[in-house]
Amino acid sequence: MFIQDACKEGFIACIERKCVFSGNAGNQDVLLIRFRRFSKERNHIFMKKKIQNQVTTVGFVALGCPKNIVDSEVMLAQIGQAGFVLSGDPDRADVVVINTCGFIAPAKAEAISAIRQAVNQKRRGHIRKVVVAGCLSERMGEALRQEVKGIDAIVGLDQRDRIAEIVAACLEGRSLRREASVPEIHDDRGRLLITPAHWAYLRISEGCDRKCSFCTIPSIRGRFRSKPMEMVLDEARELVENGAVELSLIAQDSNYYGRDLKLENGLVKLIGEMEKLESLRWIRLMYLYPSGVDDALLEAMAKSDKVVHYADIPVQHINNRILKCMRRADTKEKNLHLIERLRTRMPDVVLRTTMIVGYPGETEAEFEELLEFVRWAQFDALGCFPFFAEPGTPAAELADQLPDKVKHKRADRLMQTQQEIVFAKMDNWKGKELTVLVDDNDSDGAVGRHYGQAPHIDSVCLLAPCDAPPGTFINARVTGRDGYDFEVETR
Ligand code: SF4
Repeated sequence: MFIQDACKEGFIACIERKCVFSGNAGNQDVLLIRFRRFSKERNHIFMKKKIQNQVTTVGFVALGCPKNIVDSEVMLAQIGQAGFVLSGDPDRADVVVINTCGFIAPAKAEAISAIRQAVNQKRRGHIRKVVVAGCLSERMGEALRQEVKGIDAIVGLDQRDRIAEIVAACLEGRSLRREASVPEIHDDRGRLLITPAHWAYLRISEGCDRKCSFCTIPSIRGRFRSKPMEMVLDEARELVENGAVELSLIAQDSNYYGRDLKLENGLVKLIGEMEKLESLRWIRLMYLYPSGVDDALLEAMAKSDKVVHYADIPVQHINNRILKCMRRADTKEKNLHLIERLRTRMPDVVLRTTMIVGYPGETEAEFEELLEFVRWAQFDALGCFPFFAEPGTPAAELADQLPDKVKHKRADRLMQTQQEIVFAKMDNWKGKELTVLVDDNDSDGAVGRHYGQAPHIDSVCLLAPCDAPPGTFINARVTGRDGYDFEVETR
């Protein structure tokens, strides 16, 4: 009995945080799955499976962004389908697979630390083999073995679908030859979800054709490739049939979708088709490149019953000299106009953005211009990174790098400014009536999200304990806030 078959046959009704599901899959097979989330950034997925007394355990550590989470979900399904027992303790498994992120220095540091931990456990005799996959494997390749001694296999992004074969080869002491990465579209159907069953990520494309001077993604993930629309829709159907009521569309550059397929208004066409999925209630668009948000997309978002009025538009900076230096296609004027257009067309739109401060040569006046823009734009959510000079990127070669102290101080000032904006905006939500999707519910209370809160990255709605199980929509009213989270009461 494979995990996917078990899922289809209803042995796992749904997969929730901190929940255990079990089912009897015949006389000999017993399947037990346990999911526990330790933090938003770092998920350890534990699974135990006993098949006819053959037990080879695999621990899995999933790091990184939603795109990497999708890869982890595919690998988990494949490892499970191959008959391995996923371990409840990644510090004591026969094999540990670490799916890494290598986007910027802190992500690399987190990945290296997880690999070191696994290798140390191997030295102590608690783990037999350590397998490293994901973006950092792709970015560093064999150099990773020099950085951390004791890795048994380095799995490139192109080898994702061979993970079970690689794990088996490792255990047999064989090594599989690393193949050069070929830009191709992976089929993500048949995943074992890390997320709860009622929401999931839906990756619509891979790679990026932009040339942002600070970014490593095109060199790691390759050129932009859209998934064929039928493949995306098929996957969406599969997720909805398995209980998803909310799908977050993800990509490196979502509104570029379809251009390589010669599809005009590809994203608009895709969401038009997705709206036909009856049980799907919320479609969320993540990673909209600002200059790519055209009137057709705005119109489609505004008119849709299912696309939530939420826009994640990473502007990165606002000063025109810096934007040009970053090789962004946007200008200050275009970004200001976009925010006005979004709010005119959807007065209830919730806006999220990301920014980089301390870009090489950023003057105090240019940073002040960014602060002034933030005060004007009144974003509902904002992520800010101090600039990281990533090796191999053009921005890392620039002469006028700023000291870390300046970059971090500017990041703190920006976030302080944003905090005042967000708290004031949240106070204005008091008394509003909302539809809330319940994510979690136990004796301590329930947690959910309204349309303007994306899973994992945004704040949440805090509810008193209620009867609504995870995955249900309830009517609620905002009564106050607890930090960045809304306090709401059910109606
Ligand atoms: S659009 Fe995003 S992923 Fe693409 S190069 Fe720019 S920052 Fe990187």
